[in-house]
Amino acid sequence: MAAQLRLRSALALVTGAGSGIGRAISLRLAKEGALVAASDRNGAAAEETIRLLEGMGGETGTGPGCHAAFQADVAEAGAAQGLIEQIQAYFSRPPSVVVSCAGITRDEFLLRMPEDYWNEVIAINLKGTFLITQAAARALVSSGFGGSIINISSIVGKVGNLGQVNYAASKAGVDGMTRSVARELGRHGIRCNSILPGFIKTPMTEKVPQKVLDQITPLIPMGHMGAPEGGLFM
Ligand code: NAD
Repeated sequence: MAAQLRLRSALALVTGAGSGIGRAISLRLAKEGALVAASDRNGAAAEETIRLLEGMGGETGTGPGCHAAFQADVAEAGAAQGLIEQIQAYFSRPPSVVVSCAGITRDEFLLRMPEDYWNEVIAINLKGTFLITQAAARALVSSGFGGSIINISSIVGKVGNLGQVNYAASKAGVDGMTRSVARELGRHGIRCNSILPGFIKTPMTEKVPQKVLDQITPLIPMGHMGAPEGGLFM
């Protein structure tokens, strides 16, 4: 039981917490004892995640001892800073675990990709992650407490993928940024790591055409997509 509650004193911010991997991460953090600030640009989806956390760590109702939902678009100017300030005001401390999971795809082959697909994916996946990382790091450094920043990149950032030049660039950028942040923040007791998931069955991958899935699936060593909460889809 002690091992399961190893995050009992942690306050965790998860962006993109209203769906897929972000929701599964929120559930897992709460199960391990963390208080969760679930944020998403879809505020109703973030609130639904909080309802799913009922009975897992935290008190019931509202207040600084309870999980809470926040609405924020990570790509919007000033939103990341505003989100960290709202969380600090609500819980009277900055989040010590920060998971940047908000992300999108806008897939098209290079030869046909509109510039706005490129801009949108870079703005949310890369710049949004930078803005959250920067705002959280500033709050943690000024509080004098250590913490852990976890950025969700993707295996596509490492190996590339058909129709995802924008997404691959954004996720490779997240990885490079994270490695640099880790070097800067280590002396403040703040770790920064990225995770590169393979293909996971979520609303994001539901948009992938079957013919692309048929090419991808044989490349997965287990022969199946993963599930957000672990385990496999058969
Ligand atoms: P998803 O579409 O199920 O969830 C993404 C969530 O991010 C949604 O709730 C959405 O509302 C939110 N979001 C999107 N733009 C936002 C913004 N500007 N501000 C705040 N929230 C925003 O997707 P998922 O599959 O759970 O993906 C989560 C993360 O994992 C993404 O960063 C994705 O790139 C990454 N990832 C996914 C896979 C996969 O196979 N599903 C693999 C590797 C990495």
